[in-house]
Parts: sequence; structure tokens; C-alpha cells
Amino acid sequence: MWHVGKIIALHDETATARTITLDVADWPGHVAGQHVDVRLTAPDGYSAVRSYSIASAARSEGRVEITVERLPSGEVSPYLTQELAVGDRLELRGPIGGWFVWRTHQTEPIQLIAGGSGIVPLMAMIRSRASAGSAAPFRLLYSVREPAAVFYRDELQALTNNDEGVSLTYAYTRVAPKDWPRRPGRIDAALITNAAWPSNLGPTCYVCGPTSFVESAAAFLIASGQSPDKIRTERFGPTGDRK
Ligand SMILES: Cc1cc2nc3c(=O)[nH]c(=O)nc-3n(C[C@H](O)[C@H](O)[C@H](O)COP(=O)(O)OP(=O)(O)OC[C@H]3O[C@@H](n4cnc5c(N)ncnc54)[C@H](O)[C@@H]3O)c2cc1C
Repeated sequence: MWHVGKIIALHDETATARTITLDVADWPGHVAGQHVDVRLTAPDGYSAVRSYSIASAARSEGRVEITVERLPSGEVSPYLTQELAVGDRLELRGPIGGWFVWRTHQTEPIQLIAGGSGIVPLMAMIRSRASAGSAAPFRLLYSVREPAAVFYRDELQALTNNDEGVSLTYAYTRVAPKDWPRRPGRIDAALITNAAWPSNLGPTCYVCGPTSFVESAAAFLIASGQSPDKIRTERFGPTGDRK
């Protein structure tokens, strides 16, 4: 079923990524980790559909936030990040997904691993944890190109400063801040072993990002002893044209 959302706020997370807040009158509510399909339709009837994870906490009924990274040659993301204006309407379908979700009754340690815009559904989990008053211990490993590419920076900083139950490790792939202890580079086995919960604590792991990132992070988790059936993955590959 398609819903119509009205854009009520736009916020630039980085030079190339924008958070879009929609008011959706008949929104049924969602669980952290789910996504929506967004449909754009041209005056001639041509339409393009892309999936976007929901960034907002599970409880924010009637309000849906997504964060879109602009791909310069993309069909949909340049429109969403550059042309959409407050007051415009957007068609969306969802919420979608029942596996890559964190529910507030989960109390086990949670390991989140994000690559780039893969932070979006993991942020929904962190926000849901906070809004539900959950004490589930969370660790986030956030791999990102450079400091300027970090989404939700101030909110993440505030959450980790104020709540001992959430810890955050950044891993920079291209440019790291001065004196950063690790040289810029892709995630590797040592980083995953150091940053992730020990496997004997039985964490549930959520990994999200580009396909190649997700596959290597999941392989490193398994090599470090994590149980494959406790690893949930979401790949942000191209979604193609689904009508
Ligand atoms: C479940 C799911 C959730 C997603 N959530 C988000 C989200 O929260 N935020 C977000 O920004 N994106 C997300 N994506 C990706 C999003 O659906 C689109 O693929 C992306 O916005 C590009 O669409 P486009 O129309 O601009 O580019 P297209 O016109 O589809 O593609 C342009 C070019 O870029 C390549 N390409 C397309 N998508 C990607 C990609 N993701 N990574 C690298 N290359 C790509 C294509 O192969 C093509 O060469 C998600 C994808 C899935 C499957």
C-alpha cells in the first residue's frame, strides 16, 4: 500500500547527504531497522522506486525520517537531496522488513557495524533504544570515509557521552583526524576483534552498508568467533526500477 508523506523538514547531514522528515497521516508505525520504498513519478507517468532505511525511532508514529546519500550519476538520490522542498509530497510504501530489526524487548548485547550510509537503520536502533529506555548494551563500529562524512555526528556524540550503555568506535577509510590511533583503511579482522563484543557474550550483530562492506564485516565477525545465526545483514546495493 502506498502512503503519501508531506515533507516537514530537511536537514543536511553532510555535503552530500540529507535527512528528509515526512509526516505520514496513515503511517502504521515501524520497528527499528525497517525500510520504505520511495516512488517518484514524472508527469509522463514514468516512475522510479528506491528503498531507504528508516532513520527515526520506532515510536515516532506518523513521522518518518530517511537519510539519503547523493550518488552524482543517480536517478533518484540527486532529486531527493537537492530538489525536494518542505511542503512537497512523496509517495512511500512500507514499513518493509522483519529480519533486520531490533525490538525493544531484546536485552542481549548488540553489535552494530555500519559502512557509510549503512548507519541509517542502525541509528534507528540506537534512537529506539534511547526512546524506549532500554538498558541493552550497544556497541557501534562506524566505518566512514572521513570525519566530514559522518551522519548524525552531534547526536551520536551526545548519546555516547550521556549513556554508558552505548559505545562508539569510528574507523576512517580515507582521512582520519590528526593523531587518530589507526591509519585510514578498510575494516579488518583486528579492528572487528577489538571493537566488537566478545563472542561468549552472545551478541546479536547488525551489519549494514554497501554489499562488499557487509560481506567482509560478516566474514570477520564469523572468523572472530561470532555465531553466524546471530549476524543480521542489510545490503545497500542498487535497488533498480521496481514499480
Ligand atoms: C534495503 C535498502 C535500504 C537502503 N537504504 C538507503 C539509505 O538509508 N540511504 C541511502 O542513501 N541509500 C539507501 N539505499 C540505496 C538506495 O536504494 C539507492 O540505491 C541509492 O539512493 C541510489 O539510487 P539512485 O537512483 O540515485 O541511483 P541509480 O540511478 O539507481 O544508480 C546510479 C549508479 O550508482 C550505482 N548504485 C546504485 N545504488 C548504489 C549504492 N547504494 N551504492 C553504490 N552504487 C550504487 C548504480 O549501479 C548506478 O551505476 C538502500 C538500499 C536498499 C536495498
